[in-house]
Amino acid sequence: MSEFELIHSGKVRRLYRWSDTEILLVATDAISAFDFVLDTPIPGKGKVLTGLSLWWFSQLADLGIANHVVSADVPVEFAGRGVIVEKLQMVPVEAIVRGYLTGSGLAEYRKSQTVCGLGLPAGLVDGSKLPEPIFTPSTKAEIGQHDENISFERLTDLIGTDLADRVREAALAVYSRAEELARTRGIILADTKFEFGLRGDGTLVLADEVLTPDSSRFWDARLWAPGGPQPSFDKQYVRDWLSNESGWDKASDTPPPPLPAEVVEATRTRYLEAYERLTGNRLAEG
Ligand code: ATP
Ligand code: MG
Repeated sequence: MSEFELIHSGKVRRLYRWSDTEILLVATDAISAFDFVLDTPIPGKGKVLTGLSLWWFSQLADLGIANHVVSADVPVEFAGRGVIVEKLQMVPVEAIVRGYLTGSGLAEYRKSQTVCGLGLPAGLVDGSKLPEPIFTPSTKAEIGQHDENISFERLTDLIGTDLADRVREAALAVYSRAEELARTRGIILADTKFEFGLRGDGTLVLADEVLTPDSSRFWDARLWAPGGPQPSFDKQYVRDWLSNESGWDKASDTPPPPLPAEVVEATRTRYLEAYERLTGNRLAEG
């Protein structure tokens, strides 16, 4: 039991009250897929998410976009997985940027040659690089519901034109910088999801986790071959197992089955490898 007041329990993160203006944000080892939280944790995953987010926040510091980090100096029970952050008014949207076509973007493209209503060239396939990165927002769904891709126009209806413009600009800027940096480490940042919040004075602040295997698709640049699913460092491994091997019927709305030990170990290895490839450091175990 923690002495801190739990103010929100998300699928993967827990938020505890730290002070009137600050939150202790803790990443657990839980993994979600297809909007379900799985019964089986991935040991060490929370530390990868927190460590990688902190590394990215420091890499991105000179972009001129504020971030929510106050301190990584947390009580020992949360060491490595907790971070103290500014308490923000969250912008209720997933600010997704895609540089490559796959997933729900590909599904929409196949129907209408668009993603979130944005027209794209003909002839793109699963894994194709887009002519330029695109901002493809989605609504934040409640647990058990599915996020929904929306057009930029719909976003302006939801949060106003000024804020929508600022979120798009910031998300594209962070993606571009991160994509460039990841490429130097042999990793393609295919797409990623950001969340932003607002300070009391209206400043837009990059919040939540950033550029982790949970919020992003990382592909091995050497193995990139458009035309089918790409080997990835994210939970695509778990998604593939659930879709193709587990016997679970996604459409049934029954919870997914527990993960076998080898899928846990393979996923854990992928998360650690993503961290090590990007940062060039090994994650402190324990
Ligand atoms: P999921 O990410 O799995 O779709 P979720 O977002 O509800 O679900 P978590 O990611 O586990 O769950 O929880 C993190 C929560 O903390 C999110 O609701 C996010 O919007 C919120 N959050 C992140 N940073 C801040 C911040 N600086 N101030 C206030 N809330 C924040
Ligand atoms: Mg979240």
